[in-house]
Amino acid sequence: MAPTEELLTLDRVHQVYASGERPFFAIQDVTLALREGEFVTLVGPSGCGKSTLLRIITGLQRPSEGQVRYRGQVLRGINPHATIVFQTFALFPWLTVLENVDVALKARGLPPALRTARALDLLDRVGLDGFEGAYPRELSGGMRQKVGFARAMAVDPELLCLDEPFSALDVLSADALRGELLELWTAGKIPTRAILMVTHNIEEAVFMADRIVVMQKDPGRVVTELPVPLAHPRHRKAPAFLEMVDRVYATLAGQTQPEHVEMGSAPGEPGLKRALPDTTITDLAGFCEHVAAKPGDRADIYRLAEELRVDSDHLLRLTEAAELLGFATVTGGDIALTPLGETFAEAGILARKEICATRIRRLPLVRWLLAMLQATHEKRLERGVAQTALELDFPAEVATRQLEIIVNWGRYTELLAYDDTRDLFYLEPAGNASHLLAAGERTRGEP
Ligand code: ADP
Ligand code: MG
Repeated sequence: MAPTEELLTLDRVHQVYASGERPFFAIQDVTLALREGEFVTLVGPSGCGKSTLLRIITGLQRPSEGQVRYRGQVLRGINPHATIVFQTFALFPWLTVLENVDVALKARGLPPALRTARALDLLDRVGLDGFEGAYPRELSGGMRQKVGFARAMAVDPELLCLDEPFSALDVLSADALRGELLELWTAGKIPTRAILMVTHNIEEAVFMADRIVVMQKDPGRVVTELPVPLAHPRHRKAPAFLEMVDRVYATLAGQTQPEHVEMGSAPGEPGLKRALPDTTITDLAGFCEHVAAKPGDRADIYRLAEELRVDSDHLLRLTEAAELLGFATVTGGDIALTPLGETFAEAGILARKEICATRIRRLPLVRWLLAMLQATHEKRLERGVAQTALELDFPAEVATRQLEIIVNWGRYTELLAYDDTRDLFYLEPAGNASHLLAAGERTRGEP
């Protein structure tokens, strides 16, 4: 068997979900091959379709279009050679550690006599020797996830799919478990032929993978594949390692586009709708201040993740917000504040509010909502109306989150207000009377 034999092939796979009146491309035209002996990671912003792709690969979901082949055979139904480990592995709380692994072996049809020995061996391999009789609630998060790995391993999967397996763990447990998985894999102690792992931790991807597949959203697609030409064990502080991390960030952060592309178009207008990045203005201000403290008001994006102690997903959302508001530009993995961004970072609270208001008012989604509010007689709008309108362009939960972001940004800048008890957007009439009015209305609304 040649070491480069293709295990799994995705051939022009699409996944479309119906969303309101418009089809929503969760996955667009993904072609990908996994070969024997490979450890591949999938990275990309939240919502770019990573979990969907894993479900398609393991056969839990059939794609709208395209073909999945396993060892050259078209996959129909569940892939018997693949297993998936989720962020938090669902263990049966009423079963012991040993019994939790045993159920997987039983499901495979192994006779009882063989099962116990095999389960003990699996637990031993993931370092749970001595915990066979414990119940899940008696274990730490890291140990529970190890039971999850043991149970996944029990079916001797040729293809092990991992969906952010370390992200729910504390830093130390994650580090330990990562090291143990790599050891099992590189030393050939598990029969697994290939590993496909979703992560939003870029360092983790570079630390573990032979190849990194980078995805983007709207629509969810593969933008590039980067081989990681570093021998194990890898050293996180080595220049080649840091350079690789920098390259992945550069690919993910992209490059600042012309303004009309960055902003997208408003609901009801032709053109691509862009969702607002999920971040608060307070976080954005902290982010800009941090970059402003750097020489030349510029920084390597990958270094910021560590300095600010945020994960790459959060960091990319902050970067996107800074670009969107014209506070920063991104090129080749570097972020640089614009003169406006510098001004914002150095300004006091009131000036910041004004700068943000000027910028946020121009965003298509905000412009659209403000115009709707102006058009109503009482300058108020039920949340449900805005939600329904947004659902023509976005999936329901994205529309919900977008309105929450608009509320946060709108309140910060005082561009608009929101009554939580009555689910109403409204415009503040100028002057203090507005606050009294709002308070009075709220009291009346209460039982
Ligand atoms: P990721 O794992 O990269 O965060 P997912 O694969 O979970 O992304 O989701 C990709 C996109 O598809 C998201 O916008 C999500 O809201 C949407 N989505 C996922 N599952 C469904 C579904 N069953 N119906 C409608 N939309 C879905
Ligand atoms: Mg996911």
